[in-house]
Amino acid sequence: MTRQINHFINGKHVDGTSGRTGDVFNPNTGEVQAKVALASADEVRNAVAAAQNAFTEWSAVNPQRRARVLFEFKHLVEKDMDHLAELLSNEHGKVLADSKGDVQRGLEVIEFACGVPHLMKGEYTEGAGPGIDVYSMRQPLGVVAGITPFNFPAMIPMWMFGVAIACGNTFICKPSEKDPSVPMRLAELMLDAGAPAGVLNVVNGDKEAVDAILTDPRIHAVSFVGSSAIAEYIYSTGTAHGKRVQAMGGAKNHAIVMPDADMDRVVDDLIGAGYGSAGERCMALPVAVPVGQEVGDELVSRLKPRVESLTVGVSTDPDANYGPLVTKEHMAKVKGFVDQGVKEGAELVVDGRDFQLQGYENGNFMGGCLFDKVTPDMESYKEEIFGPVVQIVRAESFDEAMALPSNHQYGNGVAIYTQDGDAAREFASRVNVGMVGVNVPIPVPLAYHTFGGWKRSAFGGINQHGPEGVRFFTKIKTVTSRWPTGVRSGSDFVIPTMK
Ligand code: NAD
Repeated sequence: MTRQINHFINGKHVDGTSGRTGDVFNPNTGEVQAKVALASADEVRNAVAAAQNAFTEWSAVNPQRRARVLFEFKHLVEKDMDHLAELLSNEHGKVLADSKGDVQRGLEVIEFACGVPHLMKGEYTEGAGPGIDVYSMRQPLGVVAGITPFNFPAMIPMWMFGVAIACGNTFICKPSEKDPSVPMRLAELMLDAGAPAGVLNVVNGDKEAVDAILTDPRIHAVSFVGSSAIAEYIYSTGTAHGKRVQAMGGAKNHAIVMPDADMDRVVDDLIGAGYGSAGERCMALPVAVPVGQEVGDELVSRLKPRVESLTVGVSTDPDANYGPLVTKEHMAKVKGFVDQGVKEGAELVVDGRDFQLQGYENGNFMGGCLFDKVTPDMESYKEEIFGPVVQIVRAESFDEAMALPSNHQYGNGVAIYTQDGDAAREFASRVNVGMVGVNVPIPVPLAYHTFGGWKRSAFGGINQHGPEGVRFFTKIKTVTSRWPTGVRSGSDFVIPTMK
C-alpha cells in the first residue's frame, strides 16, 4: 500500500480529512512513493486553534528555557542526521552529502536561535524626565506561519521556525507538497526536545491551505520562500489581511569573472555552484560573465570538458556530483528553457538534454548544459531556469558586466572573481543585488547575519534569520513610567516635549 503522509498538529500525527492528496515521487525512479494529504481550510483552522492554545503557555516560558528546548532539538537532529538526509535525498533527489548540508545549514540557524534571549532584550533610559524612565521590550507576535519551497526542505523550515519559536511564538509550517517528510520529522523531534504540543505544527497542502493561512486573522505573520510569482501573491494577500509578511522569491545569480581572476578557482566554483543540487538552489550560479574576449574563450574551453564529465547519479550514489531533478514536470520546464535558448540563438556548447542513467531510465536525470553567447534580451536569460544549466554572457568591461546583474529582474546573489581589491570593493558597494560574494560562489550569509535578496527576489524588505529574523518575529512595546508619582504640575494641554 502507498505510504500516506498526513499532518502533525498539536503534538500528534493527524489524518487528512479533505479527501484530497498529492503524489510524492521518488525522483530517482519516477515512481509515486507516497501520497501527501492536502489540507482543507478547516484543517488549517484546527491547526491554528492548536497553535493559539499553545501560545499562552509557550510565550510565558522564560527565554532561556525556550532556548534550552532548541539546544535539545539541535542534539536530536544531529543524532537523526543520517535518517533525515536519507528522507531528504529520497524525495528531493539531491545527493546524500548535500542533504546533510541542507540539514546542517538549518541547524546553524537553530544554534543562532539558542542565543535569541540576548536579542530579545529591550532598551532602557533612566531619568528621561523628572522621575521618568523609558524602556522597551520585544514580545512574540502569537501564531505565525511559514510556507516553504521544495529545494531546501530542512534548512528553510528551520530558518523560520527556529527563530520564531525561540522568540515565544507558535508555528504552522506548510511545506512543499513535493518533499514533506523532513519537516514532519523535524516537528516530531521538536516535540521530543520538550516543546509543548502545538508549538510546532505541520499542515501539508497546496493553494487551499496557503489561502487559509493568508486569511486567518489569528495568524500574525507569514514567512514565505518560493518562486517570485507566488511570493508576490503571498505578500499582497497576506498584507491585505493585516499580516506582517516576508516573501523570498526566485533568482538568477551572476558570477563576474575579471581578467585577473584565479581561473582554476573560477572553474571549480562554477562547476560546483552551477551544477550542484542539479542547479535547484536559489543561490546557484547559473550565469557567468567573463570580462574580455580572452577570458571568455578560456572560460568556455575550460568549462566544456568539466561539464561533459560531470557524474550524474542516483541520490544515494556517493560518487555522483548531483542527482535527479525533483519532478518530471520540473525537468520538462528546464529542458524547455534549453530548447528556447537554442532557438534564441545562444550557442549550446554542452547539451545534456538526452542524458539517461542506465537502469533508471524513468528517473528525472539530466546532463549538464553549457551555453555561450547568451545575450540579455533572450527570454532564457531573463527567467530563472533552476536546473543544471550555466549560461555565459560575455561583457567587454567591468561596468558592462556589473550592469547585467544590476539590471536583471532578480537580485538575490552575485559573485565577483578578481585579485583587485579596488574592483571588488567598488562592485560590492555598487551592484544592485542583496547578497554579494567576493571570490565566493554561494554567498549564503551565516545564520547570525541575515539572508535576503533585492528586486523580484524578495517582497517585504525584512530578511530571514539573524537579528532581522528576530525583528520579524517580535513586536516592540515601549513603556514610559514615572516613579515616584508625587510631583504634580496640573493638566498639560500641550504635547510633552523635551524643551
Ligand atoms: P513554489 O513557489 O512553486 O512553491 C513554494 C510554496 O508555495 C510551496 O509550499 C507551494 O505549495 C506553495 N504554492 C505553490 N503554488 C501556489 C499557489 N498558486 N498559491 C499558493 N501557494 C502556492 O516554489 P518551489 O518550486 O517549491 O521552489 C523553487 C523556487 O523557490 C525557486 O524559484 C527558487 O529560486 C525559490 N527559492 C528562493 C529562495 C530565496 O531565499 N530567495 C530560497 C529557496 C528557493
